Amino acid sequence: MARYTGSVCRLCRRENLKLFLKGDRCYSDKCAFDRRSYAPGDHGQRRRGKMSDYGIQLREKQKVRRMYGLSEKQFRQNYVKADRQKGIAGTNLLVLLERRLDNIVYRLGFVNSRTQGRHFARHNHFTVNGKKVNIPSYNVKVGDVIEVKEKSRNVQAINDSLDAVVRRGIPQWLDLEKDKMKGVVKSFPEREDITMPIQEQLIIELYSK
Ligand code: SF4
Repeated sequence: MARYTGSVCRLCRRENLKLFLKGDRCYSDKCAFDRRSYAPGDHGQRRRGKMSDYGIQLREKQKVRRMYGLSEKQFRQNYVKADRQKGIAGTNLLVLLERRLDNIVYRLGFVNSRTQGRHFARHNHFTVNGKKVNIPSYNVKVGDVIEVKEKSRNVQAINDSLDAVVRRGIPQWLDLEKDKMKGVVKSFPEREDITMPIQEQLIIELYSK
């Protein structure tokens, strides 16, 4: 499936949840969801009807897929991997999504959205354990050191994001040395560390059919 190129704020309104896809704007009074928290389109203000079980599962999958900015194919590949791992498939899936490099640089505050994380990763702004990594889907491991590359430390967008990260906070499974623009993966997140309202078992039910 082609990547969605329309207004990302419509996605929040469709999923009836702030997905935080636009960086600083999401925290400002310009947030489209805060201003119009009904579904987009001509019939958006109609009462949301009762959904089938399939519809509920599908919406949950779409919500999480959009939150992390993945195509259907990429998202399903993560599910397949999660299902093969030991433990609870739903938790495994969320942990795999959190371990992506584009998410990690967002969580550390080097960028202000996962979309920007993906863009900056592709443009070689980050290193992992001192080596250039320009693959947004790269899965970090415990102990990995993620840094803003020396040459990129003056990039205004990275500095602005780091200044604004206090608003989001750094997850306890990551460690940030802000002045060195350096983060360490202390552990993988536990389920309770992922605080967005996600019912991952619905996604597993959808894909298990
Ligand atoms: Fe969603 Fe952010 Fe747009 Fe608000 S500003 S609707 S949270 S993407």
